[in-house]
Amino acid sequence: MIQSTETLPTWDLSDLYAGVYDPRLDADMQAGKGQAEAFARRFKGTIASATVTAPHLRTALDEYESLLRIQYRPQAFASLLFSTNTQDPARGALLQKSREFGSAAGTLLVFFDLEIGQIPASTYERISQSQELAPYRHYLDHQRKLAAHNLSEPEEKILVETANVRGQALSRLSTEISTRTRYRLERGGQMQELTQSQVLALLHDPDREVRRAAAESVTAALKQNTYLATFIYNTLLHEKDVLDRLRRYEAPASSRHLDNELSGEVVEVMSQVCADNFGIVAEYYQLKRRLLGLDELTHYDRYAPIAAGEEPISFAQAQGMVLEAFGGFSPRLAQMAEPFFSKRWIDAALGEGKRGGAFCAGVTPDLHPYVLLNYTSQPRDVMTLAHELGHGIHDILASRNHLLDYYPVLPMAETASTFGEILVFDHLKKRFSSSQDRLALLCHKIEDTFATVFRQIAMYRFEQEAHQARRTQGELSSDRFGGLWQKHMQAMFGEALKLGDGHACWWSYIPHIVSTPFYVYAYAFGELLVLALYACYQREGQDFVEKYFELLAAGGSRAPGELVGAMGFDITSRDFWQGGCDVIRQRVEEAVKLAG
Ligand SMILES: [Zn+2]
Repeated sequence: MIQSTETLPTWDLSDLYAGVYDPRLDADMQAGKGQAEAFARRFKGTIASATVTAPHLRTALDEYESLLRIQYRPQAFASLLFSTNTQDPARGALLQKSREFGSAAGTLLVFFDLEIGQIPASTYERISQSQELAPYRHYLDHQRKLAAHNLSEPEEKILVETANVRGQALSRLSTEISTRTRYRLERGGQMQELTQSQVLALLHDPDREVRRAAAESVTAALKQNTYLATFIYNTLLHEKDVLDRLRRYEAPASSRHLDNELSGEVVEVMSQVCADNFGIVAEYYQLKRRLLGLDELTHYDRYAPIAAGEEPISFAQAQGMVLEAFGGFSPRLAQMAEPFFSKRWIDAALGEGKRGGAFCAGVTPDLHPYVLLNYTSQPRDVMTLAHELGHGIHDILASRNHLLDYYPVLPMAETASTFGEILVFDHLKKRFSSSQDRLALLCHKIEDTFATVFRQIAMYRFEQEAHQARRTQGELSSDRFGGLWQKHMQAMFGEALKLGDGHACWWSYIPHIVSTPFYVYAYAFGELLVLALYACYQREGQDFVEKYFELLAAGGSRAPGELVGAMGFDITSRDFWQGGCDVIRQRVEEAVKLAG
């Protein structure tokens, strides 16, 4: 393999709009608002009624869905365009404008879900069993559960109208701070200024000095902004406290559980089982310390590669590996991934102002999804590609659902992505003949799985305590956040790796805890679920393939417990989660054996 100078793909958004100044953007935003006005005129006051009929509600749902489709398009375009250059004022302005239009239309539509919640119980019982409403029953039932936490319509309206000047604004500020931050680093006698993606990539460098310098650079840059991050996070914690109180949610994570259609008890069982298995992490890092030949490991040794001098992997090679691995599972899986490459649905280039990380954005069932990556030619980038394409395929399969059931609930949202990664992992493992190469690959996978399972649960536990502390003790200091962060992250490693004081401010670069509180546990849920599914695939072979596609195609049309139950698993049991942890433990044992 050679260091590639290939041009990385950028996406083609012209299926949505021609560009920032496409006149159709404005037209669609206006049309979205106009339709919302017409919808409100026609249906307001007609839903929350003892005499509402099933055909009437069905007509309203169909119209509601079609007007949301029109609205989502400009918003999706604006946010995709912004993500590849967050410093371009024209893109920032378009994003803001599309959000303002979204809020304006959202304000007009607030009544609808509220009225669904207000349909008298006896009426709802009667009409919800009708044939007309069958396709929307899951949506309606879920809205009725959410409705228990609704405020009055004028109150909800104020919240929708002010959404962009409250938490959402702070969350955007946090993204802007993080994309604008430059990380100063001396390399080869020269001071360089790196982006976050670039500096974080150096934490995987085989040279410990490079990793140490990169970590210190991150620490220094984060420290400079800690006062801002502390203010932003405190304010968001407080906002959530206020809204949870007004909406009568018991615990800070309750609203997330309800959105995820999971009970708090199920999540608690999973979180506790993971914490009980933190010893697996410690066991692995003892091995890693031995393999690296170091006396003591610290936080910047976490991602040190096991085999020195890993070959870079070009994007074209990565594409080949992923398609081959997907094809080995089912030709249909590879066919679904192919247009992402041939039709330019992927943006993998590294650019100034581009947001870090990776994501897949499903727009609406009638439009295809888009994938964003920052491709740095490392083996883990191949996994990221497989991960995001998994999301994309999930979206494509789920597009047979109507929009209101299209998006999978969070805990299921990581199923296809994680499954895609395991397929690529297994494919590569079979190709490697030397035990050294297999060990390196296995260590990669183990560390990735730790990051998805145990690290997310450690973050979830950090969030739980941070929200609780803000509620009971008032505004928290940077040091307090740092202390909580260290406590929960260190718990994973036991004595095997000491994070060190420099790591205390690293809570402030985790985007999820700012933008989507308690999102993180869904990753652990998804990974452990997938480990169970994969074990099932290994037992059943081709019989599993169709069942798996069906699971994905269900999209968000059923609750996770139901979907997983149909595959023969019980998510309320400790054993189910322990089964997933056991697979991880076996991998660590395999690595110990390979290391000799
Ligand atoms: Zn994902």
